[in-house]
Order: sequence, then structure tokens, then C-alpha cells
Amino acid sequence: MTLDELRADAAGCRACPLWQTGTQTVFGEGAESARAMFVGEQPGDQEDKQGRPFVGPAGRVLDEALELAGIDRSQTYVTNAVKHFKWEARGKRRIHAKPSWSEQTACRPWLESELAVVQPRVLVCLGATAGQSLLGKQFRVTKERGRWLESNLAEYVTATIHPSSILRQRDDESRRRELAGFVEDLRLVASVL
Ligand code: SF4
Repeated sequence: MTLDELRADAAGCRACPLWQTGTQTVFGEGAESARAMFVGEQPGDQEDKQGRPFVGPAGRVLDEALELAGIDRSQTYVTNAVKHFKWEARGKRRIHAKPSWSEQTACRPWLESELAVVQPRVLVCLGATAGQSLLGKQFRVTKERGRWLESNLAEYVTATIHPSSILRQRDDESRRRELAGFVEDLRLVASVL
């Protein structure tokens, strides 16, 4: 199947309850021939409304970090482990809620299909949920980030933090430090592209 065919099929997915809370399925985006695939957790508020991955604040951090690491965005494919937005109401705001293991498992076939079509040279898990979804429940991003990991999912597999964690830092200095670490991890990716 092509990515367009997969995207059309995923639009009608009802494999877990999240189709009822998300506005739409947010499928991955990028070239079928992309050399690097980046996998996040799930779409956020903006992504849910626009129907595109990494277009909100975390996506802007990712774009900045990719540029600083010297990675051409046109060489990448970006997607999420879970393709509907899970949230909880807090007043009028929709606050991110972590997808359960059963929701991650239900959504994994879409991610596996994207991997099968794109066949990226480098697979990058952004954050714990993507890492656990692709590499197993025992995965710990703090322990395993920034190095090549044992996996047959792609020629090179690595993990780093999710860019949204940089936005959650309390002060500018922490944000700068976390961004620098994120860029450092992405330089490892750049080295094999
Ligand atoms: S989150 Fe994934 S498995 Fe659940 S309904 Fe959406 S596309 Fe289907």
C-alpha cells in the first residue's frame, strides 16, 4: 500500500476508543523515500485540529532542533505512536492525557505499516511512549537516549526526549540546556544521513 492509501484507511479507524475523543486521525507526514522517521507519542491540541503531526508548539521546537542539528526536514517523515488525541477537560482547555498500553497496542499496526512503506534508514523515538511502543515496555528514555539501540526496525535506531518536554521546563536556562541535549542527540542522527 502507499502512504496515501494507508492514510485514507486510518481515517476510519475505530480500533480503540480514542476515535471518539480526537477530532480526526492524525496520520504521519513526509516523503515515502524519507531517510529518517521520527515517532512521537500522539497528536496534541493543534495537531488534532489541523489533522497534521508536529504542527503545534512541540513541532516548532522539533523544527528548530532539526535545523540546529543540520537535518534537512525534507529527508524526514514524522508520525506518532498513537494517531488520535487523548485529552482531559480542564475548564475550557483540552489537556494531554497519556495513551494507555492497550491504546498504543491497538494503534501499532498503523505505525508498523508506515515503517514498512517508508523503510527509513534511521528510526528516532521521541520520548518514552514512542520508545515503549516500538522497543518494549521496559524502555527508559533517560537511560537509552542519544545512542544506537539494538533493534531490527531500521538500520539505525535511536531515542531521545520528546520536544514537548523542553516546553515544560520551568525556566529559560533549563529550556536552553534541554534543547542543547536534544540537538546533540539529533546530531547522532545527522551523522548517518
Ligand atoms: S488511536 Fe489509533 S487505534 Fe485508536 S482509533 Fe485512532 S487510529 Fe485507531
